[in-house]
This record gives sequence, C-alpha cells and structure tokens, in this order.
Amino acid sequence: MAKHQFQTEIGQLLKLMTHSLYSNKEIFLRELISNSSDALDKFNYLSLTDDKFKEENWSGKISIKLDKEDNSLTIGDNGIGMNEEDLMENLGTIAKSGTKAFMEQMTGDAKKDSNLIGQFGVGFYSVFMVAEKVDVISKKAGEEQAYMFSTDGTGEYEIKPVTKEEHGTVVYIKLKEDEKEFLDKWRVQEVVKKYSNHIAYPIMLNYSEEETTGEGDEKEMKTVQKSEQINEATALWTLPKSELKEEDYIEFYKTISHGDDEPLTYLHNKVEGANEFTTLFYIPKRAPMDMYRADYQPGVKLYVKRVFITDDDKELLPPYLRFVKGIIDSEDLPLNVSRELLQENRILANIKQNSVKKILGAIKKLDNEKMEIFTEQYNRVIKEGIYTDHTNKETLLEIVRYKSSSEEGMISLDDYISRGDSEKKEIYYIVGEDEKVLRNSPLLEAYKKANIEVLIMDDSEVDSIVTPMIGSYKEWTFKDITTIDAPDSKTEEEKEEISKEFKPLTDKIKEVLGEEVKEVKISTRLTESPSCVLKDASDPMAGMAAMFAQMGQ
Ligand code: ADP
Ligand code: MG
Repeated sequence: MAKHQFQTEIGQLLKLMTHSLYSNKEIFLRELISNSSDALDKFNYLSLTDDKFKEENWSGKISIKLDKEDNSLTIGDNGIGMNEEDLMENLGTIAKSGTKAFMEQMTGDAKKDSNLIGQFGVGFYSVFMVAEKVDVISKKAGEEQAYMFSTDGTGEYEIKPVTKEEHGTVVYIKLKEDEKEFLDKWRVQEVVKKYSNHIAYPIMLNYSEEETTGEGDEKEMKTVQKSEQINEATALWTLPKSELKEEDYIEFYKTISHGDDEPLTYLHNKVEGANEFTTLFYIPKRAPMDMYRADYQPGVKLYVKRVFITDDDKELLPPYLRFVKGIIDSEDLPLNVSRELLQENRILANIKQNSVKKILGAIKKLDNEKMEIFTEQYNRVIKEGIYTDHTNKETLLEIVRYKSSSEEGMISLDDYISRGDSEKKEIYYIVGEDEKVLRNSPLLEAYKKANIEVLIMDDSEVDSIVTPMIGSYKEWTFKDITTIDAPDSKTEEEKEEISKEFKPLTDKIKEVLGEEVKEVKISTRLTESPSCVLKDASDPMAGMAAMFAQMGQ
C-alpha cells in the first residue's frame, strides 16, 4: 500500500472544501455524475471505433446506491476507468490551468471564497463538502488490475491494488454525520433530476425500503431492495426546442459549466439539409478565468451522432469566441475522424462558419442590459475578432463598443454614425493608455469646439493595432485624430506661411530639447493648448501582436 501526498494546490482546495460555507453542497452529485458521464462517453467512443474494445452487450449506465446503515452513498459507472497512474494524475494533481487560476483568486476569506466556488467548478473535490472518507475503486478498460484510491481529504491519499470485475469506476462516499439528507431517496432524486436529467445515460437509484407483506396475522415487515431509473437519459440538445423550457437550458448549462451562474444567453439550432447538425451554445455571464491564457480550455464539445468525440479541439470555433460553451453534434462526420483530419474537414468548416454566424447573431440581439454585461466581459475579444475574422468583420463592428468624447458609457459605431456628419462620413478616434489623459488631450479641443464626436480608445494595447486596420465601416472611414488636421484648420498655403514665420522658434525649441524629440512642428490641430507631444506613428506595437500569436491567431 502506497501513501502519497496531494499536490499543494489540492491540499488547499481540500481544506477549502471540507470547511466550506458553500451552501450548495448538493452539486457534488452533479460533478460525480458528470465525471461518470464523461467516462462513459470515452468508452462508448472506443467501443465504436476500436475493435479491441468492442463489447457485445455494453450499454453505459450510472448507478447510485444509498446505504442508511453504513451512512454511505456510492456512485458507479461502467466507463473507461482509471489505472494507478490515472488515479494519481487525475485525482492527486491539478492538470487544468483553470483550477490553478481559481486557486490564485482564493482570498482566505471564507465567504468570498465560497462565492468563488459557485462560479468555478471544482469537479471531483466537491465531494469533500459532504464526505468524511472517499474510496475510488477503478479498473481501466483493456487492463487487468483494478486499484483503490482512498483519502479522508486531509492532504494524503493511498492507492492499493484491489479486485473489480467490470471496467469502470465506483466512488464510495462515507458521509459526514450531518449530511444524512443524501441518504434520502427523495432528496437524491430531486438533485439528480435538477442537474442531470439530460445526461445521456440512465442513472439508476438503488435503495432499500421497509415493506409490509401478507395479511392479518401473517403481516410482516421486510426490507426490500429497489432500483429505479431517475433521469430521462436523453441528451438535451437532441430534443426539439418546443419541448424545452428556459429552466431546462439553464440547468443543463450549470451541468456543463460546473458552476452556479445562469448564462447570459443561449442558442439552440438544428440545421437540416446536405450537412445536418445540431448546435447548442451558451454565452457565460462571466468570462472564463483562463480566457487570456494560451493554454485555455475550449468550451465546445464535439459529438458525432450523439457519440462524444472531443472537448479539447480549439478549432471548433475561431479563437476569439473561446468564451462560448456548448455542443456541436454532427450527423455527417465519420466517427473515427482524426484530429488532423478535423482541421481540414469540409463538413466541420461548414459547421464552424454557420456556428459563428449564429453566435454573432445572438449577440447582436442582446437587449441593452445584457449587451452592457457582454461588452464588459468580451469587448476585447470581439476586437481580436475584428482583426482576425475578415468574413464577419462587419457584424463584429456592429457588436464592438467604444467610449466617446460626447456620450457616457459605451457606444456602438451605429450610434456614432447616427450623430455624425453624413456628408463627410468619417469616424474620428484617439488611442492611448489612459482615459483621463485622452479626454484631456489638447487634440480633442478643436473637435469639442466643432461639436464633433471622437471615440476614446483607452485599451491601447489592442486598439492601437486593431483600429488602424479597420479602414471603414458602412462606408465611414476611421480617422486617427493624431494624424489629421483639426476641423476648420487652415489651408495648406496658410499653414506653410505660419510655419515659415515661426521657424526660428521651432528651431530654437528643437535645439533646447535635442534628442528628446524627433521633430518640432507648428500645428494646426490645437485650439486652446499651446503645444502637445505626439507619438511617432511608426511606433512598434509588438505586445498585442504577440498576444494574438499566443492565442493561435
Ligand atoms: P474534470 O472532470 O473537469 O476533468 P474532475 O475533478 O471532475 O475534473 O475530474 C478529474 C479527472 O478525474 C477527470 O478529468 C477524469 O480524468 C478523472 N475521473 C474522475 N471521475 C472519473 C470516472 N468516474 N471515471 C473515469 N475517470 C474519472
Ligand atoms: Mg468533472
């Protein structure tokens, strides 16, 4: 028997779980069921694509057993299972970058941290909210030896060889004294129905009940074992929209996002014809914590005819839509489509194109309140899209929002145009790091005076790269006010005249400043301020380019 230490971050996470004030303890069931469902998906795929794993009568199942005498709840599946290394790697260490990011946000303040738990799924470890002790008994498909992973959640675990007949995993949970509610058939049934009704495999609940048999004097009390299926076991996205209520979509979202938040919006589409597929997409209310990490976890799962294929393909949607969660289920892709083939697959390219259009369409339709939330969370990645997705540039420009010199909050380009000079058709903007500095820029004075609105772009890392390449929107040309003459400025001849007149002064200033500046010029861009400092337009903007490259764009 080997004793092991949990990775430090897990040790912290366990402590947090064990002493959690998080009131929503029932989600441990959702997390364990979702793990079983994933394991069944993986085995299902193997059994259909690899002769080694073909099994005559295999059908995926999840079973929950309640044992009141033992004070335990057990969840089992006949899925892919884990061997010794898998157990150590999957349950003893943290693989997901998201989990690390989550731990980094922990404050030590129990209330705040509990709130975070609700936003971020902690997966398997959520079991320690209710467990005194956990045994995970697992046998990997195709292997002989089964193993048991045991822990009481205090920083150490043990692994030892055991015997188990079928491949798959059984999680045995010895419940804490005050978590007895999870031994109650009705309570468990309610939780499973709430979160896991549309898991694609049957969930069987096994429990015992006292029953009276016989008549009159022969009457006898007996304990009988019962077993019943407690979920619908149909993948939610396969159901017609008309049969689904908003709550169904929301609960399903919680299952796939492992959180408590409701989505900002969702869209469910079935496309028929030469290329048939179903998509169900969700836009989270909060951007995923790993959105700006190169190793972000993609949010979309690919299925082929209800068979899970992958949840780790960053090509299913363009990288700038990496915050979208959901499902693509194709009727036409071959089951054993390889990774490499997926990249170039025509069918998938078509699905992707259609999906992007639908998602952007749904974003455009958000009401003002939701659009505000969307902008707060995703404006920056939308700009990435403007830069990288030429096909949908126009739609993305309808979605993006900017600050303005004359309006509060964030405005759309359509707002701008509606107020602008429809003869000139120019969109004026200024880019810089600091909103306040931009708003007080001497360059803005002439525009304010002339009552011309200017977009204030203070996300300079992104805006300085993206905006210059927009060119135009609905025939309105983007103009950087640091590179053009102020409105109602002098004619060329007049300008030359003045420059000549002031040459001794500008030469003198250049002499005094020396290498500090490249050039000193007379400007017609200012009205009230006597002078201003400008950046050289050929300044490199390496930071942003590097970020795009990192996200694979
Ligand atoms: P996640 O499911 O998001 O990966 P979890 O903490 O829920 O994170 O689970 C960690 C890992 O443990 C899973 O990715 C999976 O590899 C493994 N695992 C958990 N439960 C099972 C199970 N029932 N069968 C097979 N593997 C499992
Ligand atoms: Mg999980």
